[in-house]
Amino acid sequence: MVDELKKSIRDVPDFPKKGILFKDITTLCKDPSLYQRMVDLMGHRYVGKGIDVVVGIEARGFILGAALAYKLGAGVVLVRKPGKLPSKTHSASYTLEYGEDTLEVHQDAILPGQRVVIADDLLATGGTAGAVVDLVKRMKGNIVECSFAIELEDLGGREKLTPTPVFSLIRY
Ligand code: AMP
Repeated sequence: MVDELKKSIRDVPDFPKKGILFKDITTLCKDPSLYQRMVDLMGHRYVGKGIDVVVGIEARGFILGAALAYKLGAGVVLVRKPGKLPSKTHSASYTLEYGEDTLEVHQDAILPGQRVVIADDLLATGGTAGAVVDLVKRMKGNIVECSFAIELEDLGGREKLTPTPVFSLIRY
């Protein structure tokens, strides 16, 4: 089941810069049954686990975060690039596989003690997800797991996120 998902992901060499092998999930997402399977396999883990909100990381994390939240009957929280959110925000800076960036979340997005799943398309070095973990912790959210469609194991993201639990569906 996961093999078929893996086969549908397109490798794009040297994007967005030389040396990066970009894992393009648009080729998976455009297929109705593969997209549904990806969301179901990821969401299945959290059914009945009392998840209050799923945090999606801009932009490909929204594709997963919103669908997972809908499946779980949870709310969806958006973590966005700077300047996109209209109300008061917390922000966190981080380095990623191909650059540096900042992410923001509304200060009132998560209530203390709420059970949170953080979702993104891909875990590489863990810089992005680490920044989101910081943001959720600042709001005293209870992080149940960080959940990724894809994990690039050699880049050590899982270790970087320790002790936060990590799940990934497709590993390279
Ligand atoms: P990192 O912060 O290094 O874990 O990088 C993860 C973030 O960057 C995710 O939001 C991914 O969408 C994106 N990303 C990093 N490396 C890749 C890659 N090789 N292919 C596709 N997306 C990537």
